[in-house]
Amino acid sequence: MQQYTTDIMIIGGGASGLAAAVAAKRFCPELSVMILERNSRVGKKILATGNGRCNLGNISTDSRYYYGSCKKYWNTIVEQTQPAEAFFQSMGLYCRRESDGRLYPCSNQAASVLDALRLTIEQEGISDVCYCLVSDIQQTESGILAKTTQGDFLASAAIVTTGGFAAPKTGSDGSAFSWLLNLGHHCNTPKPALVPFLTKPVLLRLLKGIRLSAEVTAISENGTVLAVDTGEVQFTERTISGICVMNLSAACVGQEPAAICLRLLPEIPEQRLLPLLWELYGVRTNWKLEDWLTGLLPKKAGIQLLRSAGIAMSMDTPVYEITPQQLEQVAKTILSWKFPVLSRGSWQEAQVTSGGIPAEEIDADLQSRLVNGLFFAGEILDFHGNCGGYNLNWAWQSGQFSGENAAKQILQKRGDTV
Ligand SMILES: Cc1cc2nc3c(=O)[nH]c(=O)nc-3n(C[C@H](O)[C@H](O)[C@H](O)COP(=O)(O)OP(=O)(O)OC[C@H]3O[C@@H](n4cnc5c(N)ncnc54)[C@H](O)[C@@H]3O)c2cc1C
Repeated sequence: MQQYTTDIMIIGGGASGLAAAVAAKRFCPELSVMILERNSRVGKKILATGNGRCNLGNISTDSRYYYGSCKKYWNTIVEQTQPAEAFFQSMGLYCRRESDGRLYPCSNQAASVLDALRLTIEQEGISDVCYCLVSDIQQTESGILAKTTQGDFLASAAIVTTGGFAAPKTGSDGSAFSWLLNLGHHCNTPKPALVPFLTKPVLLRLLKGIRLSAEVTAISENGTVLAVDTGEVQFTERTISGICVMNLSAACVGQEPAAICLRLLPEIPEQRLLPLLWELYGVRTNWKLEDWLTGLLPKKAGIQLLRSAGIAMSMDTPVYEITPQQLEQVAKTILSWKFPVLSRGSWQEAQVTSGGIPAEEIDADLQSRLVNGLFFAGEILDFHGNCGGYNLNWAWQSGQFSGENAAKQILQKRGDTV
């Protein structure tokens, strides 16, 4: 097998790996930087982000949108690296700011983001080696040695940017953990995040395809509130979804939710709800039950809500047959409509990984505490964020941080001034 040598070896040519390569090379152009990527080309997942538009970042770097043990490093990384907008501007890619501070390329095409990175890499003289699956790494006296399908690669420093387990078709299937575990590293319980929740299909029969505005709450078995968000809830024949619900899957790190509760009609104050239902009872008293809530909610959602409130009579029954107790039960269901959680969606449906290499196994430079010269960045670390560009913020900024730190370390070891 052929052996190749380089100063910095980047394992995984995704968002964080590409950012790490650019930052390392810009920090010290004399160092050779090589990206090893298993796919036929780098950045496959970037093309799928933001529905093909790539929500490449968010102007907010507030840590409240992030979760996981490596959160403690976030503020320092933010202070020492370029935010997404400036990082891409340095490659000639300009962004537009949309609602909630979301950043998109002006072209509205994820391909432009990948092109900016790809062409910058070419311009900076960074090599990318594709079809190069890394199957093991070892620390040797001469540096870090990677065993790959394209031969052995020896480097003074390596950055592992292989992502997590989410969307395995894009190349990040968590297989890197097999060799990381051999080195003594661990993976904090990985769970699919930014993913829909599966609930009882019988509750969804009428709701499939409907969108409802709601405050959503994830609650535990004993009713403890685990996380809250607001937005548009969506339903399929097996899942409850929408950005706000997916955010709950990111926020519930330690404990799994037993149910998702919807507070419908969030713009109507709680004390106004019962009088409003009585008004509607008066105005529509001779109407069929199936039409009673139409307008407040889409008709099919109204019918399902009545069923979930325990109203078993035929939907042809006139509204005046509703008892005061039943009306109160309807109000209660509008305030807290429970959907039991059967499970999270699969890795195929997930946008990110909750869990990864824990904070205690790396130092403040994102360097392994177990293997000198081995750095990490991106989703492989135990850190993830909400929908809205926060995960790519992390990928670019942690990538830049590790890239620079790896370059600095090599210069320091060689006795050069940094
Ligand atoms: C459908 C979808 C839409 C998304 N949309 C957004 C969005 O709009 N905004 C946002 O902020 N975030 C979004 N995300 C999340 C975001 O894409 C990820 O958080 C980010 O790409 C993680 O970057 P990474 O570099 O850590 O990992 P990845 O991008 O997963 O890259 C890892 C790379 O390593 C390679 N690799 C893995 N193992 C090996 C190995 N053993 N040897 C060699 N190479 C290997 C993989 O092939 C891959 O190219 C989305 C995710 C998905 C799935």
